[in-house]
Amino acid sequence: AVVNLGSINADMVYSVPHIPAPGETLAATGFRSYLGGKGANMSVAIARAGGRVRHVGAVGADGDWAVRRLEKAGVECLHVAQADEATGTALIFVDPQGENAIVIHPGANAAVPAQALQDAIEGAAPGDWFLTQNETNLQDEGMRIARDQGLRLAYAAAPFDAARVTALLPLGLSLLVLNAVEADQLRRATGQDLADLPVTDVIVTLGAKGCDWIRGGQVRRFDAIPVTPVDTTGAGDTFSGYLVAGLDSGLGMEAAIRRAQAAGALMVTRHGTSDVIPTSEETDDFARN
Ligand code: ADP
Repeated sequence: AVVNLGSINADMVYSVPHIPAPGETLAATGFRSYLGGKGANMSVAIARAGGRVRHVGAVGADGDWAVRRLEKAGVECLHVAQADEATGTALIFVDPQGENAIVIHPGANAAVPAQALQDAIEGAAPGDWFLTQNETNLQDEGMRIARDQGLRLAYAAAPFDAARVTALLPLGLSLLVLNAVEADQLRRATGQDLADLPVTDVIVTLGAKGCDWIRGGQVRRFDAIPVTPVDTTGAGDTFSGYLVAGLDSGLGMEAAIRRAQAAGALMVTRHGTSDVIPTSEETDDFARN
């Protein structure tokens, strides 16, 4: 099973004629609101991949809908707490050219109670995975408690923060997932080649180019499945969730990567985020054809 300490957001997307200027009041031409946050997306991806995932996080008093949405997707939410802060929000403006401006308020995501984390990890078994990203509090504590409990540690270093990743590296990560931009940032921050990091497996996702798997100083490229993308949001989260779910289910790294790439490629052919993350049946059908 996977314990995922992660963010839960209400994403609110406004289609606007242009990005509003200071002092301007603008009528949106469209609006959509949905469940988001890298943490929630990855938990949904793990569940859709057929994995068992226990989410650790927090929402505000206004966040019941988000928990219900996660549960409906098959995510265990016993350790999603209710905090005194508002549910995390992302306010997203998108103009007709696809340019965007985003404001994020972490809210409850920065107030995950230590007890929820402790309880979730205590219920896990050695060999299970502990996964987190950089959108909640308690990342270091979670990694430490999970390591001491014999869990395998996975980190998706997004949104990227050099100080945070370098603080987590000494804890002994089994898996580090970065996209191309984050990989460059980490190389610059550490002055090190990724192959020299003290991490068992590093995966660098490269969008339409696929991904690199780095283990034991060797780099191996996996080409992406060619598709015509219509919306690339959520591809990385889908990939990471599928990857960890695959490893947790006993797949080898190569098979887990191939499945994650199929899910990621299928994801970019769809509009939307958590609500359209492919199921395992869809992913396996797509990979076969
Ligand atoms: P992020 O969203 O974090 O920047 P990427 O864009 O690198 O992540 O996408 C993650 C994975 O999703 C890639 O490694 C690839 O397997 C798949 N993917 C993303 N974009 C495409 C694409 N245009 N065509 C095929 N696969 C894609």
